[in-house]
Amino acid sequence: MTHQYPTLLQPLDLGHTTLKNRVMMGSMHTNLEETKNWERVAEFYAARARGGVGLMVTGGIAPNPEGGVFPGAAGLYTDQDVANHAIVTSRVHENDGKIVMQILHAGRYAYGPDCVAPSPIKSPISPFVPTELDAAGIEKQIADIVQTAQQAQRAGYDGVEIMGSEGYFINQFLVKHTNHRTDDWGGSYENRMRLPVEIVRRTRAAVGENFIIMYRLSMIDLIPNGSTHDEVVQLAQAVEQAGATLINTGIGWHEARIPTIATSVPRAAFAWVTKKLMGRVSIPLITSNRINTPEVAEQVLSEGCADMVSMARPFLADADFVAKAAAGQSHLIAPCIACNQACLDHTFSGKISSCLVNPRACYETELPLAPVDTPRRVAIVGAGPAGVSAAMTAAQIGHQVTVFEQSDKIGGQLNMAKQVPGKEEFWGLVDWFKAMIDDLGITVHLGHAATVTDLQGFDDVIVATGVHPRDPQISGQDHPSVCHYTDILQGRVTAGKQVVVVGAGGIGFDVSEFLVHDAPATAQTPDLEHWRTEWGVGDPAQDRGGLVASGPAPTPAARSVTLLQRKAERPGKRLGKTTGWIHRSTLAMKNVQMAGGVNYEKIDDQGLHVTHGPDRLDAKVYPADTIILCTGQVSNRTLADQLVAAGIDPIIIGGADVAGELDAKRAIDQGLRVALGLG
Ligand code: NAP
Ligand code: SF4
Repeated sequence: MTHQYPTLLQPLDLGHTTLKNRVMMGSMHTNLEETKNWERVAEFYAARARGGVGLMVTGGIAPNPEGGVFPGAAGLYTDQDVANHAIVTSRVHENDGKIVMQILHAGRYAYGPDCVAPSPIKSPISPFVPTELDAAGIEKQIADIVQTAQQAQRAGYDGVEIMGSEGYFINQFLVKHTNHRTDDWGGSYENRMRLPVEIVRRTRAAVGENFIIMYRLSMIDLIPNGSTHDEVVQLAQAVEQAGATLINTGIGWHEARIPTIATSVPRAAFAWVTKKLMGRVSIPLITSNRINTPEVAEQVLSEGCADMVSMARPFLADADFVAKAAAGQSHLIAPCIACNQACLDHTFSGKISSCLVNPRACYETELPLAPVDTPRRVAIVGAGPAGVSAAMTAAQIGHQVTVFEQSDKIGGQLNMAKQVPGKEEFWGLVDWFKAMIDDLGITVHLGHAATVTDLQGFDDVIVATGVHPRDPQISGQDHPSVCHYTDILQGRVTAGKQVVVVGAGGIGFDVSEFLVHDAPATAQTPDLEHWRTEWGVGDPAQDRGGLVASGPAPTPAARSVTLLQRKAERPGKRLGKTTGWIHRSTLAMKNVQMAGGVNYEKIDDQGLHVTHGPDRLDAKVYPADTIILCTGQVSNRTLADQLVAAGIDPIIIGGADVAGELDAKRAIDQGLRVALGLG
């Protein structure tokens, strides 16, 4: 069946070794290494090796303490460290995989007082001013990186990736934004690129020919004073000359104010950047960012954008991505929806990464899908994320599952989320749920509100009946201008031109995003040219660093929107750690007005009357054609209560269990765990 992806599944000859296909699992910091449970780390990578990926890259390993992303970050310093990593490499090799170790020196992004950099310039995303390295200090950093590559070789890795992008240490030398030096390591571009070239040259000399050296090169910095395309070409050629085997693409510094991997970024949004380098070097190029299906990956390669694709988060969502693609089962690949909710948001909170759609990611040894000895008859009421997750898992381990869903489709609240522009990926998630239900032979009764009678005779009854919108009890809320978010996102009400959104949680933000566009989202990824114009992403051949000089040019909002909350804090403060800024920026670009600390006094023909603060001062009226209530949810427990009254003890999950702070991540995780614990 490999003919479906003839380019993607073609081997890639690297001279001393051959990769079995053109798919790489890019580096992700999962915080797994920090558990020091090396069996668990090994199984994470071994599962991906079994799943057929051509090459994997580990999370970043520090070359020395000062270069660690945070104090105590994993390094490869001792014989014991080497022995631990050897557990991982041998398990990967036993499973016919190949793995390279990323060497990551964070420079001024290192979150600690000992950080070092070319110049003492603090980054906007760290409180620490780095110490400027002297010439001997630079030599030490190079020596530490080279020695770490040698340690990686001893540990059995197939190679190393030298992290030269995303604004880390090496990248900081390359651009004048962060390199103000006047010695041999600063000034001219030749001097500024000396560091990466020396690192690659000396690493090659130290490790010999039969070892992969991949260099991750920042091809579009997306910061002021970043590299030009000519400089990117010059560096790529020098890195090739110095002995690199492969060049991987880096997109944007971490401090860039342009989203590069979030769900609202169009699929394969930066493949054109790698394509500009094709033909300018003779070693293979790898492209990256927002590639999440075999179809998109195949298209990117067949259009000549690169020789290989890197996908990182898609391998959290599904370890068997490549195997399923090769078997003609791409519809069964769990899709990465680029939400960051369980991966990067966890990483940056010091938690172990996982995946919203696959809670087993990084928990392979904790949550095995072990077949049961005695199958049970399981009824699940509600086919939202919690119910479907429970159904899939129960069926996967051998239970006999029947699902009842009162609406005419599965997916629950995801069917509303997928209407929101920027959340197009949710269409694919609901489609995957459908495909899995079919594949697993789960019986689903759509349009069937289950009764107590329906549920008699099952061994287990799982209630996943979700939530109702919370009633905020605002005086006058029965006014014809008022509706719930469900009315808007389910298409029962079309908002007027002047709208007030009451409640600035995740759904208030989503509804505001929906309102500033003139049409709902579809399954199609957003238009790339339009997206680039809106964010001001230029071509580094014309615009240094890829930032358009005139800046972002957002399309005017379809409506005037005001977003309110009672809490006296910045609206949107509690949104996702790595994505909240994007939601706040997109609404700001569309002139959405936001206010916190309001009291909702009443609604009448004039609009929404508010006062401010505990003393109810500064009365104000927000005129509105439409007032939309996004004031949270309450659990729908009607059926659960009826079951209890009838002597059936249901297992309650998802929003029906706890409505507050509900999101798909918690729902899917709970559904899986409950299903694993049945019996
Ligand atoms: P939420 O985040 O709890 O927000 C509810 C909003 O309603 C808050 O702004 C709250 O703020 C307000 N509110 C609560 N009770 C109220 C009352 N009695 N009267 C007036 N206002 C009231 O809930 P949500 O927005 O409905 O979202 C539900 C879940 O989905 C959340 O956990 C959220 O994380 C998740 N979600 C996430 C995303 C995302 O992008 N990651 C998107 C959508 C949904 P005040 O009390 O300050 O007014
Ligand atoms: Fe992708 Fe979201 Fe899973 Fe992260 S949590 S891997 S972004 S689906």
